[in-house]
Amino acid sequence: LRAAGPDYLAGLNPEQREAVETLDGPLLVLAGAGTGKTRVLTTRIAHILALGRARPFEILAVTFTNKAAREMRERVGKLLGQAAEGMQWLGTFHSIGTRILRRHAELVGLQSSFTILDTDDQIRLIKQVLSAENIDDKRWPARQLAFAIDGWKNRALGPKDVPAGEAQAFAAGRGAELYGIYQARLKQLNAVDFGDLLLGPIRIFRDHPDVLEQYHRRFRFMLVDEYQDTNVAQYLWLRLLAQGSKNLACVGDDDQSIYGWRGAEVENILRFERDFPGAKVVRLERNYRSTGHILNAASHLIAKNEGRLGKTLRPQTELGEKVTVAGSWDSGEEARAIGDEIEALQSKGHKLDDMAILVRASFQMREFEERFITLGLPYRVIGGPRFYERAEIRDAMAYLRVVASPADALAFERIVNVPKRGLGDAALKLINERARADEVTLPEAARRLCDAGEMKGKARAALKDLILSFDRWSGLIDKTPHTELAEIILEESGYTDMWAKDRTAEAQGRLENLKELVRSMEPFENLRGFLEHVSLVMDADRGPSEDAVTIMTLHGAKGLEFDTVFLPGWEEGLFPHQRSLDESGRAGLEEERRLAYVGLTRARRRAKIWFASNRRVHGMWQSSIPSRFLDELPEADVDVVEAPATFGGGMGGGYGPSRFDNAQPFSSTYATPGWRRAQERGGATASPGPGARRGGPMTIEGELVASSSAKSAGFK
Ligand code: ATP
Ligand code: MG
Repeated sequence: LRAAGPDYLAGLNPEQREAVETLDGPLLVLAGAGTGKTRVLTTRIAHILALGRARPFEILAVTFTNKAAREMRERVGKLLGQAAEGMQWLGTFHSIGTRILRRHAELVGLQSSFTILDTDDQIRLIKQVLSAENIDDKRWPARQLAFAIDGWKNRALGPKDVPAGEAQAFAAGRGAELYGIYQARLKQLNAVDFGDLLLGPIRIFRDHPDVLEQYHRRFRFMLVDEYQDTNVAQYLWLRLLAQGSKNLACVGDDDQSIYGWRGAEVENILRFERDFPGAKVVRLERNYRSTGHILNAASHLIAKNEGRLGKTLRPQTELGEKVTVAGSWDSGEEARAIGDEIEALQSKGHKLDDMAILVRASFQMREFEERFITLGLPYRVIGGPRFYERAEIRDAMAYLRVVASPADALAFERIVNVPKRGLGDAALKLINERARADEVTLPEAARRLCDAGEMKGKARAALKDLILSFDRWSGLIDKTPHTELAEIILEESGYTDMWAKDRTAEAQGRLENLKELVRSMEPFENLRGFLEHVSLVMDADRGPSEDAVTIMTLHGAKGLEFDTVFLPGWEEGLFPHQRSLDESGRAGLEEERRLAYVGLTRARRRAKIWFASNRRVHGMWQSSIPSRFLDELPEADVDVVEAPATFGGGMGGGYGPSRFDNAQPFSSTYATPGWRRAQERGGATASPGPGARRGGPMTIEGELVASSSAKSAGFK
């Protein structure tokens, strides 16, 4: 036995320690939730630095979210007892890809100031491509092509590599061709989409061995967290880089692979041993996160999946509290009951920071937000209906983008007539034509049109005014603090005023969001840094660091942990999600089950599952039946909780059927405490087969939710 090493190694178990200390050669840590995989990676970085095996900027470390990257940076600092400075290559695939692409942009025909399009911009651009090619976007929606292109990019396929059969599916076989045109347009605009952030570097590495060589020399150690969710492009990118030092350490858990719908391939885990012969594989079995009942429940549930690599998980603490399952009458009641539970826990001294509500679909969040606002309970929403995706924020951002890079045509188009300046489609068409003819940016084309007198009257005055404003704002970039500049722009452009004069209900909220936007710019050094951040944020956590409940999606919660986890909405159609079942059948169901496993294993001490008999989705009431996953939980580890008294009073209390659009027959047993009782009464109904989805799927807020029928659900 070797003598105890430095402090940071002291707390590790022997397998973890082996994974940390095996620095040379490829390493794969394959282990279940909460076994310390992320901790191993963090400690490994500290170890590399402490031994002086590499300098901070020679370590490439990939995390799944920006938030995880920040946390890893902090933890390494703590382990070393000093700030981990200079770790420039710690981030997400996207942020690291951006960095590499900016350094060598010219090798793929871009300028290093390229803009990163978000989904919304991407769709707008594809619409333009479709219309230029005379393709009816009602018949062939832009969104559909965007989805196909993303899928191809996830598999590292360029326009020429798309298999003929797949291209056939769009616009009479023109899929691949349109993809090519879209790429050409992106290049003209000096823009990239998310997929290009990886594809660009891959192309550069392949076509320019000297560049790849530079990175081989640089990256002495490479580490990847959540490896089970890498897609083919990410895998190829890693493999190219790892040909250098071969010191690639990946950690993952096949049971937590939840991004199959986005192209992630669990097979990458299996490939690892093939592509890196002699790779060391370490398995960790002790779970340090969750108490026994929670871990048993999660392990039992995931065991229903076929084709797992299979792992053992052993709890390290007491059995603790059982997982609770509770039913509610509707989703509003669910939000009220969970709000009450949170307040009760808080009054017993539990911190809100240690509690999270993890939802399957982001539309579920709003009801909790509203309830918490009523209660005055601080909360933060992570991901979901993202702040930066709101219309007013996008408009404001478009102004900032044009100021920072005048070549950003999509941004210019977005705001040229917002607020209304009399610069309609005709004016925009003129500007676009001129830009193409003269090969200049849109603002420059606009300037030339005005100067040449080709634009007349009011439109000319308005355009001239806008161009002069942009000149003035651009001139302020280096002279004025960027938050102040943002205020000036929003003010002088008339944008704030537009909402101030607006009489609609949302206007006030929009003004507040604009203020919030300016506030959110404060931590950044300059405008460019901020814009870069926004185009990359996937986890836009808001607000100050006050004690607050977290609301987020199950997908976003990967890798995180909380003392108490609330899991609402365990209903057929919502969870498992109807769309997954429809599109991917058994594989879809298994991915949903992995998501349930991820949800349960986020909890340290308390996991509280809820389901509602009725849910309002986009203003429409739908009845629902409990999720099949509830039946898959082991009884010994679960407590079925009586429904809260607030709605036990039958038809009294103002819960009249009139509240329901679909006016179901009101039953006196709707407050049945749990799905088990339904099972006792209704027999087969508790294992909802395909019949439960008889109502067929409905499209709501972009989500498919089963309009299953309570009448068949045994709740009567
Ligand atoms: P996930 O699969 O959910 O990402 P993980 O395998 O990455 O989980 P970690 O987040 O690294 O697990 O660790 C889970 C928890 O267990 C953390 O709170 C961590 O600090 C703790 N932990 C890990 N290893 C040990 C150990 N040897 N002793 C005590 N606590 C540990
Ligand atoms: Mg982890």
